[in-house]
Amino acid sequence: MKHTKRGSTHYRVGFTSRHRWGKRMSTATFPEGFDSTYDNKSIHLLAHHSSRTRSKAAAFTVALGLAFVALPAVGVGAATTPTPPNQTVAQATVPGDAAATAKTLPGDMASVNQVRAAAVPAAAAGPAVVTLGFDDQRVSQASVGPLLTARGFRGTFYVISQFIDEPVGAHPESLTMAQLKSLEAAGNEIGGHTQTHPDLALASQTVQTAEICGGRTDLISDGFKAPVSFAYPYGSFNASAETVANSCGFTNARTVSDGPESIPPAVPMATAAMPSVQAVANATDPAVTVAQMEGWVTGAESGNKKWVQVVWHDIVTQGSQAGDEYYQLTPDFTAFLDWLKGEATAGRAVVKTAGEAVGGAAPIPAPIPAPTSIKPYGAIGALWTAKGGSGAILGLPLDNESDVPGVAGARVEDFTGGKIYWSGSTGAHEVHGAILSKYLGWGGPVGYGLPVTDETVTPDGVGRFNHFTAGRSIYWTPGTGAHTVYGAIRAEWQAIGWELGVMGYPTSDESDAVGGRYNNFQGGAITWSVPTGAHETHGAIRATWAATGFESGPLGFPVTDEFAIPNGRQSTFQHGYITWDSSTGAVKTVLG
Ligand SMILES: [Zn+2]
Repeated sequence: MKHTKRGSTHYRVGFTSRHRWGKRMSTATFPEGFDSTYDNKSIHLLAHHSSRTRSKAAAFTVALGLAFVALPAVGVGAATTPTPPNQTVAQATVPGDAAATAKTLPGDMASVNQVRAAAVPAAAAGPAVVTLGFDDQRVSQASVGPLLTARGFRGTFYVISQFIDEPVGAHPESLTMAQLKSLEAAGNEIGGHTQTHPDLALASQTVQTAEICGGRTDLISDGFKAPVSFAYPYGSFNASAETVANSCGFTNARTVSDGPESIPPAVPMATAAMPSVQAVANATDPAVTVAQMEGWVTGAESGNKKWVQVVWHDIVTQGSQAGDEYYQLTPDFTAFLDWLKGEATAGRAVVKTAGEAVGGAAPIPAPIPAPTSIKPYGAIGALWTAKGGSGAILGLPLDNESDVPGVAGARVEDFTGGKIYWSGSTGAHEVHGAILSKYLGWGGPVGYGLPVTDETVTPDGVGRFNHFTAGRSIYWTPGTGAHTVYGAIRAEWQAIGWELGVMGYPTSDESDAVGGRYNNFQGGAITWSVPTGAHETHGAIRATWAATGFESGPLGFPVTDEFAIPNGRQSTFQHGYITWDSSTGAVKTVLG
C-alpha cells in the first residue's frame, strides 16, 4: 500500500474556509458500500448502542488503562505503514462506488479490462441498448413499476433474497413478495443480488457459492422465473465470484463502473455499468444529472459500446425519504424516462432487461449449497446471537472459532458479514464492513490490536467506529471512508472534541510527515513529532502554514493548537507563529 501522502485532499482542506467543518453532513447517509440493506441493518442492530456517548467511549479507553503514546506506526516500532495482506485498493476503477473500489482487487479488474479492451467492436451500428436496473428492492421502488409500464419499458430488479418482506420502518426496508411478483408479472426481470448482500471479494468461495447460488435458488423456490441476471453487492467481485455466479446459472453479472458496455459483453460475468444514480454529491462521487444520463445514451447511440446499464436505488419525491444519497427525485426519473421514450420511438435506443441484452444460454441448474452445521458458541456465539444471528449483519458462520495467529489467547470466528474477535481482557466484539477492510489492511489483530467495542454509531449519527486496544480507532463515514487514528494524534483529537470538534472526521489514515506523523481531517490536520507532541492546525492559519511547506518549511511543526489572541487567533510553531486578524481576515507570519 502506498503511504497516504499529502495529496490533493490534504492541500485542499488547508485552503478552504475555516468553517468548512461546520458544513459537513448533518444527516446520516450511506453509500452503496454501507448502503441499503447491509448498513441500515447495522444501524438497526446497533440501535441499542446509541446511548453510548463519546464520553462513555472515552471512559472505556481510560478504564483499560491505556496511555496515549505516539506510535511511530502500527506494529512494533515500524517506521512505515504496514503492507496490507490482500486488500490493495483500486481507486480508479470504480468511479460510481467508492466502497466497491476498495474490494475488487486490481488484478481482477485489470484482467477484466484487458479482455474488454480487446473486444470492443470497431463499428458503431444499431441503436443503443439501455437497461434500467434497480438494486436492493428498496421500498421506494414500488413507484417504479407503473412508471415503466406506462412507457412500455421493462426493468431489471436485483433482489436480496433473504430480505424480501422486511417491513417498512424496519431496516432494511424491502418491497414485499407480492410487489415483486407483480413487477415480474408486468414483464420486469427479477435478478439475483445474493442472499444477504455480503462483500463477495472478501468472501471465501464457499460463501460466494452459498450467497450467489443460494440467492438464486431462494428466488426460484419463491416462485420467480429462474434468474439469469446477477448484480454484485457494492459492485465488488473477483475471479472466483465470476466463476461461481456462472456456475449457479447466471448468464450475466453486473458491476457498478466502467460503462458503457459492449454487446455482447466481453466479460459477461463482470459487465460494466454507469455510475450509480445519485441526486447529491458525496466526497467520492458527484451528483448524476438527467442531462448526464441522456449523454450516456446518446454516447452509446453514436459510439461502439452500445449497452448502457443504469443503476438506481431509491426513487423518491423528496431526498429526506431516501436511505442515502443514492436516490433520484421522481420528476427527474420520469424526465429521463420520457426523454428515453423519445429516443426509443425514434429508433435510436431500445430498452431491454439485462437478460434480454445479453441473451444467449439457458441457465444451467444451480448447485444447492450444503447447509451449514457450524454453531458459534461461548462468548462469540453469544454476541453473534445478540446481533441477530444469521439473519442480521454478521450473517452465517463460515467456520468454527479458532486461535488468532500471533496474538496469544485471542480467538476469532469468521462470518459472511464480518468477524468476531475475543480475548479474556477485551471480551467479544464484532468488526465488519469498511472498518473491517481497513482493520485487516492494517494488519488485523497483530498489526492493530483487538477490538474493544463493536461497530458503534457516533453521537452525531453520521459515522461509525470501532475502538481497538492500545488507544487505536477506525472511524468511518459515507463521505470520508474508513480511516485509522491512534496514539498521540487520537489523544489530541479526543481532547478537542472528537468528530464534533473543529477537526470533524479523519480523511486520511495516520501517515508519515517529514520527521513526524499526521492525520488529515475534514477541518484540518493533527500533526505530531517527538519534540512537539500532537497539535491541530486549521483554517486560514493552516492554509498559510501549508503555503510555507508545512513542517518542512521554515516554521517547522506546530507547538500549540490554534488559540485566541486579542482580535484574532494564533498558532505557534517551532520557529515562529502565524496570526489571523478576525476583523480584517489578514494572516501574518512571524519567523524566529
Ligand atoms: Zn446492493
